[in-house]
Order: sequence, then structure tokens, then C-alpha cells
Amino acid sequence: MTDVMKKHSMPTRDPAERARDFLPVETGYDEETAVAEAKRCLNCRHKPCVGGCPVQIDIPAFVKKIVERDFEGAYEIIARTSSLPAVCGRVCPQETQCEAKCVRGIKGEPVAIGRLERYVADRHLALNEKPTKSDSNGHKVAVIGSGPASLTCAGALAKKGYEVTVFEALHTPGGVMVYGIPEFRLPKAIVRQEIDNLSSLGVEIKTNTVIGKTLTVDEILADFEAVFIGSGAGLPKFMNIPGENLNGVFSANEFLTRINLMKAYLDEYDTPVRRGKKVAVVGGGNVAMDAARCALRLGAEEVYIVYRRSEEELPARKEEVEHAKEEGIIFRLLTNPVEILGDENYFVKGIRCNKMTLGEPDASGRRRPVTIPDSDFVIDVDTVIMSIGTSPNPLIKNSTPGLEVQKWGGIIVDEAGLTSKDGVYAGGDAVSGAATVILAMGAGKRAAEAIDERIRNGNGK
Ligand SMILES: Cc1cc2nc3c(=O)[nH]c(=O)nc-3n(C[C@H](O)[C@H](O)[C@H](O)COP(=O)(O)OP(=O)(O)OC[C@H]3O[C@@H](n4cnc5c(N)ncnc54)[C@H](O)[C@@H]3O)c2cc1C
Repeated sequence: MTDVMKKHSMPTRDPAERARDFLPVETGYDEETAVAEAKRCLNCRHKPCVGGCPVQIDIPAFVKKIVERDFEGAYEIIARTSSLPAVCGRVCPQETQCEAKCVRGIKGEPVAIGRLERYVADRHLALNEKPTKSDSNGHKVAVIGSGPASLTCAGALAKKGYEVTVFEALHTPGGVMVYGIPEFRLPKAIVRQEIDNLSSLGVEIKTNTVIGKTLTVDEILADFEAVFIGSGAGLPKFMNIPGENLNGVFSANEFLTRINLMKAYLDEYDTPVRRGKKVAVVGGGNVAMDAARCALRLGAEEVYIVYRRSEEELPARKEEVEHAKEEGIIFRLLTNPVEILGDENYFVKGIRCNKMTLGEPDASGRRRPVTIPDSDFVIDVDTVIMSIGTSPNPLIKNSTPGLEVQKWGGIIVDEAGLTSKDGVYAGGDAVSGAATVILAMGAGKRAAEAIDERIRNGNGK
């Protein structure tokens, strides 16, 4: 491939060095690299990349501003439709979204749209400008949770003059961006800055408030004209195989929360965490990659990703898989755990697995994993981290009469995000099940528009 056919590579720290600390893996483009990468954009008239972006950022327009070195102009274009560009530039699965549609990608590599978004957003954040509070329109809206869905909804409403209060169960706002995605992929200072911006817009954030326990949705509705539920999908799933109750078995959620939210990796924090020597992480998504790479950084000698399909079906972002491999994570693909083995003190000592092959496509369109008879073998490990998915926590549903949910727990909404309960909207993982930051943001934005329309039409209180 000639040079113009290739993306400018993202500078990353040496794998051996970064695999032992929590500092950022990628260090970001400098100005000259960003401009040179932006020049690869063909500025297509029909803009297919925009259609690939769930929030329809005008990508060619912001990329053109980078070519002109008008970086604030580029930021302004992104910010019209995306409220968390420094986050999305780091964690969005661009390879299946905007970059998948890039015309440059037909014969070579697509334009590195995510890296350019990150460059522009980081440059803007460094200016440390605070948005100003809009004049109040006198209407009050409550938002439950403080992940990307809720923050987007809250920000959009606050800009229109609504008095917004966010109720967050944890002691720190940010949702998965704070408790799940590790510092080395998404520095928490970035999330903090975005949340400070919301505070500057006048959004009040009440932490340590569990809706369904501290307060109910109906109690909130007595004081607010509408409620948005963005409570995510934080309830871990397990495989229901023998041995899952042994000491040394964790959900990825618990493991990552201890590390990222409660800073177990820092000496000055008392948070206990399992520092396994040989660790198996079951699953193949972003969460599994994060858990595996955190286990490595806590000092593990061997970390396995155990996944029942092949590399092609790994749901994690390609970049994260590549980084995990570079750091020494061992991939045991086409491998399915059937039992976790314990010692006489009920501590994990191994994981028994079957070898798999791929059969016909299943309902998800991916080829179904089929067990190879008599293929079982044991991987010696002292820790097992289950990362096979999550579902919405039933607490809000159980404490909110009239709120209808799917069988698997997802809140049922219409296109605008309205639930079965008047004045109550929902979006993000709480509705879709575990998905992505950008989809959660899109849902928060749509719900904010619908709430605004409802109240402007006099249907608030
Ligand atoms: C480890 C990990 C890595 C990921 N990596 C990526 C990635 O690389 N790229 C990507 O696009 N996506 C990634 N995702 C998925 C992405 O983070 C989620 O899809 C997204 O955060 C969902 O946003 P949300 O606002 O719906 O919910 P969340 O981010 O889950 O936020 C929900 C918030 O609601 C709060 N809450 C829950 N119940 C209550 C209650 N009863 N009362 C008050 N507050 C409550 C929670 O504490 C939480 O703060 C990852 C997820 C995880 C777990």
C-alpha cells in the first residue's frame, strides 16, 4: 500500500512497559500528524461516513477544518451533535461505524476519523473553557443515572434552560466511563471535565442516591415534570456451571469496579482486590479485554481470554484485541468452560473447558459454536472472571408500578424514548441491553428532544 492508502498510526507506549501500569496506552496524534491524516479525507459529496455515525457528526466538515488548522471550528462542528467527543474519540467502535463507510477504505485504510475526533476534543479540553448556564425556563426535569445516556440528556436539557437534577447511585458520576472502562483507555480526568461542564451548565448531581431505595420514580415525579431513566445494564450474567461459587470467581463488573472506581491499583487506597497469578477471563467483548488487561496490570503472570467462538467473531474493538495481544494476553479461542475446579479450601485451581468448532449461523447471524466430543482439557488458573454480558438491574422496574419491561429486563420505550409510564423516558443500556457509549448518547439526545417538546406543548405539570 502506498502511504496515502494507510492511516497515520496512533503513537502507543511500549507494550512491556504499559502492561504494568494504568497510564494511557495511546498518546494521541500531534498537530502535524492530525493535519496530514485529515488531508487523506476525499471530502466526498455524498458523505457516507456521516450515515455510519449513530449521532450523524458532519465528519467531512470537521476534518476539513483540521486541514485548515481551525481546530476550534472543527470542535464546534463535532459538538453540535456529540456531547462527549473526547470519550467517543477513544472508545467508539469506529471500524464498524463511520470508518466502515469511508470511501478511502475501499482500496486502502479509511481515514482515522476517531483519532482525529480525539485530537480535536483533547485540544479543546486543554483550553479549559467552561460553558455558561442558560437562563432558566422554570421547568424541572430529573435524570436517573450518570452514564453517557443521562449526561447527554441532562446537558441537552440544561442548555435549553431546564433545571436538571441527576440522581446517581454511586459516589462518583460517569457510569461505565468511570467504573468500567479503565484509566489506561479512558483517563478519568476527561470524564471529570465533561461532568464539571455539566455542573457549569447548572445541572445538579446528587450522588449516593439509589432510585428504587433512597427515592422512587413516583416520588421524583411529584417534584419534576419528566424523568429520564439511564440506569444502564449493570447486572452481571453467569454461566451457571459447577464451581462458579468458588473463591476466586468474580464478575467482570465487580473486578473492574474495584479497580477503576475504587482505585484498588493505587497504594493509597484500601480497596481489596484479587491479584491472581493465573487468570482466566471468560468472554470476548470490550469488557473481557478490559478485565484481562487489568489483571495483567495487577501483576498476573498469565492471563487467558477464554472465548467459545473464533477470532473473527470476537465482539471487542479490533484495536483493543490487538493491544491485548501485544501486552501478552493469551487467547484461548473456540474454547468453552464447562466447570470451575476448586481445591480443598474451595479456592479456584483450574477451569475445565471443551474445544469447540463453528457450525451453522445462529439467530445472531454468527456461526454457532459446537462442542467437539471428548475434547475437554483443564487450564490451571487461580482466578476466573466472568465477562459474558450484563442486563439491566430490576430495582427500578420493581419499584415503579406501570413501567413495562422486556422479559430480559430492558425498559420498553417508543421511538422518542417514552416508556409505558406518562412523563417517564428511558434510554441507553437500560433499554437496549449492553451496547455502546455513542448509542447511549444518541438515546439520551432523542429523549431530551422529546421531553422538551412535551413540556413546551404544555404536557408537563
Ligand atoms: C468494561 C466496559 C468496557 C466498555 N467499553 C466500551 C467501548 O470501548 N466502547 C463503547 O462504545 N462502549 C463500551 N462499553 C459499553 C458502554 O460503556 C455502555 O454501553 C454505556 O456506558 C451505556 O451508557 P448508559 O448511560 O446507558 O449506562 P451506564 O454507563 O451503565 O450508566 C448507568 C448509570 O446509572 C447508575 N444507576 C444504575 N441504577 C441506578 C439507580 N437505581 N439509581 C441511580 N442510579 C443508578 C449507575 O450507577 C451508572 O452510573 C463498555 C462497557 C464496559 C462495562
